[in-house]
Amino acid sequence: MYIRFWGVRGSIATPLTNAELEVKIETAVKLGIKAGITNDGQVPGFLESLPLHIRRTVGGDTACVEIQAGGKTLVFDAGTGFRRLGLDLIKRSGGNPIEAHILMTHTHWDHINGIPFFVPAFSSENNLTFYSPFSGLKERLARQQNAEYFPAPLSPIFRFVRLNEHKQLHIGDVKIENFPLNHPGGSYSYRVTYDNKTIVYATDSEYKELSAESLKPFTDFFHDADMLIFDAQYTMLENVEKEDWGHSNVFTGIDMAIEAKVKKLVFTHHEPGYNDEKLYEILLKAKEYVDINQPKVPLELLLASEGLSMTI
Ligand SMILES: [Zn+2]
Ligand SMILES: [Zn+2]
Repeated sequence: MYIRFWGVRGSIATPLTNAELEVKIETAVKLGIKAGITNDGQVPGFLESLPLHIRRTVGGDTACVEIQAGGKTLVFDAGTGFRRLGLDLIKRSGGNPIEAHILMTHTHWDHINGIPFFVPAFSSENNLTFYSPFSGLKERLARQQNAEYFPAPLSPIFRFVRLNEHKQLHIGDVKIENFPLNHPGGSYSYRVTYDNKTIVYATDSEYKELSAESLKPFTDFFHDADMLIFDAQYTMLENVEKEDWGHSNVFTGIDMAIEAKVKKLVFTHHEPGYNDEKLYEILLKAKEYVDINQPKVPLELLLASEGLSMTI
């Protein structure tokens, strides 16, 4: 399976500010002077040596993840990252009809705001199907494009399939299971299995009761996943302060991933108030936590960022 992250921010789109960009440039130039850069040939190596929070940004678009499996295009959530995915699908299609299966965790703004800007929705030859265990998904999405809020109505070419909670869905040879999460208004996790590989997408969820018994239904759903994509919006402290806001943190994610024997844990749904420096610092602390508490566990930790892609 091939996976690519198109939107990793939670709550609201958060573009890099000019002030943040200037800090990155200033820091890079100062480090370049310190490193004694004197010619163009040294630049690529120098850039490679820069800390991640200086040379990269996690990105500002909201939730959208693409998975390619068994010749099918699967999309999880349609936040603002869905817009760029749409443009890329058109480019890749070479003018042929586009088929995509879009699975929605829930309908909070940060998971649906890209839909009005999804350009493939304007070509009737495309085959675009939305899936969700929620009732009335079409009506929910149509309200977002009510004339008071957007100049064009919901695309008439979209098809809608209501999933049964906990029941398996098969799209070609890909198996998809769903599981309800703890979130205001509800949210669903998806477990995607193809060719003996499994990716679990579990965003927008709070785990208030941290006993193994309370977490068991979730860790059972995550079990043996090759990749678990996990809502780690807050720091541990902020998670306590924002009880019932419906999100989690890296440490809870690590404990659950270890219990479930997950191989790769990807943190996503980043808090809009956290800049790149803070997010990469959280990743560092998360790695320290594993090194100190579970040094023998082969768990790989990653920070979801726009454009991050890999084959599982
Ligand atoms: Zn969200
Ligand atoms: Zn939400």
